[in-house]
Amino acid sequence: MRIATRFAPSPSGHLHVGGARTALFCWAFAKGRDGTFILRIEDTDQKRSSDAASIGFAKDLHWLGILWDEGPQWQGVGGGPHGPYFQSERLAIYNHHLQRLLDAGHAYYAFETGEELDAKRKASAAAGKPYRYDRAALALQPDEVASKLAAGVPAVIRLKCPGHDVTIKDEVLGEATIPATEIDDFVIRKADGFPTYHFAVVVDDELMQVTHVLRAQEHFTNTAKHMLLQDALGFRRPAYAHLPIICNPDGSKMSKRDKDKALRKAVAERKLTEPPTGIVDPGAWGAWLGDKNVQLDLETGQRLADALGITLPEINVDDFKRSGYLPEVLINFLALNGWSPGNDIEKFDLEFLRTSFDPRRVVKTPAKFDRVKLLSFNCDAITGMPHEEFLRRAIAHGRSYHPAFMDRMGEQGIAMLAKASQERSKTLDDMFRGNRFFVVADDALTWERSKNTDKAMLGEAPSGCDHLRALLPVLGGVTEWTSTGIEAAVKPYAEAHAAGQLGKAAQPLRIAVSGGTVSPPIFDTLAILGKASTLRRIERAIAAFTATSA
Ligand code: GLU
Repeated sequence: MRIATRFAPSPSGHLHVGGARTALFCWAFAKGRDGTFILRIEDTDQKRSSDAASIGFAKDLHWLGILWDEGPQWQGVGGGPHGPYFQSERLAIYNHHLQRLLDAGHAYYAFETGEELDAKRKASAAAGKPYRYDRAALALQPDEVASKLAAGVPAVIRLKCPGHDVTIKDEVLGEATIPATEIDDFVIRKADGFPTYHFAVVVDDELMQVTHVLRAQEHFTNTAKHMLLQDALGFRRPAYAHLPIICNPDGSKMSKRDKDKALRKAVAERKLTEPPTGIVDPGAWGAWLGDKNVQLDLETGQRLADALGITLPEINVDDFKRSGYLPEVLINFLALNGWSPGNDIEKFDLEFLRTSFDPRRVVKTPAKFDRVKLLSFNCDAITGMPHEEFLRRAIAHGRSYHPAFMDRMGEQGIAMLAKASQERSKTLDDMFRGNRFFVVADDALTWERSKNTDKAMLGEAPSGCDHLRALLPVLGGVTEWTSTGIEAAVKPYAEAHAAGQLGKAAQPLRIAVSGGTVSPPIFDTLAILGKASTLRRIERAIAAFTATSA
């Protein structure tokens, strides 16, 4: 039988790295065995699903290189004989199978309201018993059921469970038996007419001919319900492999709350009481600051992070993309979360994963997400790639995330900056994030005042400012404004006036033109800035430092 796996996200938000790893393993397992990888969108929770999220998932998977053989049609991939691949478009199919269960007496209508069920739950809790649905609806006569339905009384459909224990066999977790007492007659169709997750997943896995279900460990106990449904419906049983969660090194869940925590920390450190103008609406700001349980929405949070100059912990695939991680690095690193190929192999590509992935090497315990290692993998990949490729990818990144920077620098400026940056870049974003001073108007540049900058600019004579004053005519006389042209003028100056210590001249220059102590190599920096900007910034820096030093 042809192997088929599926990745079945519920599109309620962004693709989490944990979800991406599930997709990756599903893909690798199927593609390594000449099988089919299916993408199915589980959007039966109408309140939580959105089309934008589905498109976001498709884009993220595409970016990672995880392409589906069957699924929603998107940019030339997808389609297939088992569609539609959005569960919300499969209601007629589910209704057909629900009717089969009702006809066979394996399922029944129940009419309790939410309040009635809550009361039953409370009564169980008061009696110290775990809550199980009491099957009261089974006592209804067929004509009572029919008249309630005809009168439009809201109804759910429940599976009539056979009352035996269920033993799950899992490729990763081994065997576990869920006692019958822990499984009550669960709802398989909600009052809004949509199937529950359990029902839809079982029907679709059968009809889409899925042979292997690889999914998150949180679904492990659900498998017992799925097996009961398969039996009631007369379906095959796919093989199961439940994957460990990916968590923070301290064991906490990697969730968007981590971003909120980082924002709160930055706001507290800066003692901000007012929101930066235009970033967060003052009402929302007040509600957020006043209550730790309130979170800013993702877009607002990101705008606030940009305004504060901080990077939020990446949680979703698009966060890693924005931070300048390479998709092939993220793939490689994600695969190592919960799995390893053995033989100390750590660096590999999709093709290697395809041919070597084996769920039997997946570990049972949670995987700890090591950001330092990810960054070092990314740095190795960036510094190791041919320069033309770095330039091409940096430009694509800049176009997506820093369009104003790209416009201000122009093509030639970007090419020069890329040349000067590759060797020092850990991410594609470093070149933009660390070099904002290039695109600040010369007259708007301000200087970081610290012990270091003051020492470099105002130390013992000749001070940094003295050197800068002397360098103004030297730089003004440079006719070939290139990195080598500038170096050819500054080096002899340093020989003659700074005892050959180039740093004595270079560091004041760096501070003067960048506002701080970090920039690409100094002659490259000046070449990229251009002569007029360089001279103007030096004049302003001398004025700024000397004005406040007296
Ligand atoms: N839709 C489920 C989720 O997003 C996955 C269900 C499954 O893989 O069976 O968690």
